[in-house]
Amino acid sequence: MKDNQKTVLVVGGAGYIGAHACKAIAAAGMLPVVYDNLVHGHEEFVQWGPFEQGDILDSDRLDAVFRKHKPDAVMHFAAYAYVGESVEKPDIYYRNNVCGTVNLLDAMLRADVRTIVFSSTCATYGIPDAVPITEETAQVPINPYGASKLMIERILTDYGTAFELDWVALRYFNAAGADPDGEIGEWHVPETHLIPLVLEAASGHRTHVTIFGDDYDTLDGTCVRDYIHVSDLADAHVKALEYLAQGGQSDAFNLGNGIGFSVQEVVEAVEEVTDCKVRITIGPRRPGDPARLISDTRRAREELQWQPQYSDLNGIVSSAWKWHQRDKPCN
Ligand code: UDP
Repeated sequence: MKDNQKTVLVVGGAGYIGAHACKAIAAAGMLPVVYDNLVHGHEEFVQWGPFEQGDILDSDRLDAVFRKHKPDAVMHFAAYAYVGESVEKPDIYYRNNVCGTVNLLDAMLRADVRTIVFSSTCATYGIPDAVPITEETAQVPINPYGASKLMIERILTDYGTAFELDWVALRYFNAAGADPDGEIGEWHVPETHLIPLVLEAASGHRTHVTIFGDDYDTLDGTCVRDYIHVSDLADAHVKALEYLAQGGQSDAFNLGNGIGFSVQEVVEAVEEVTDCKVRITIGPRRPGDPARLISDTRRAREELQWQPQYSDLNGIVSSAWKWHQRDKPCN
């Protein structure tokens, strides 16, 4: 390790987005140290620096890891993130996401680390009145998951004022795709996200995909989402650290492509990329799904100097397909 190499503690760094961030941190010449409890993360994803197993609710373990690695900054990805589960079990969502973050922030202050980049979400906006969604759009979350993330944004604001903590909250739209080199990818247990589910149907590992509603007020009646490549998200985290290092103001930024694709268009893109037919059935609407979620990302582009590299849907799906095929070739 170089003497002047910066160290970033990547909390939740063994998960889907956190692992891609570790790769981007290493590519930028910094050392990512992963802190993860492995409830949803995968130790195989820790490839670019040391691994410390631990829970964000464990203050003693956090203190020991801060003492050992002396990080310059923290990136915080550790959260429970299943919307449906958050409605069933709000207690574990608020304890893990909110109490866990307060615990982490307090450990940072004890270690005198005052820079954090936090994973937030477009779920903090709830059902917006209009799209595209800017950072000024009212944040009215409609489930405990979104509410937990909004509470953390508020906590960051208050800690920032009281304790000179510098923070950036990145509000992701629909994270998708996989590392173009195929080293890491989307691996959720259980899987609930559209693109991996459609890929599983294409490769014969699932009989069909159910489209949740085809009677929305959209061009083909299916929901429209803004899919953003996970490597573009990862890059934004590195840019957020640079922004804060250069004296940028603590703030929240949307991260998306600013382009919407319908569920039907995603299915068609998968069929084109995989050259496999996908069986679909039409099911009822999923509670809480807005017709359209599309980001306005001018603030991130202007302030963070961030520019997505993978805005093409087929490119996003191709990278996910490459990862998916590592052990599940097309039937
Ligand atoms: N979706 C679907 N069938 C599925 C899973 C998802 O029709 O089996 C739809 C869902 O209603 C939404 C879009 O695909 O409009 C993206 O859903 P996902 O769960 O991937 O992400 P979310 O938008 O909930 O964050």
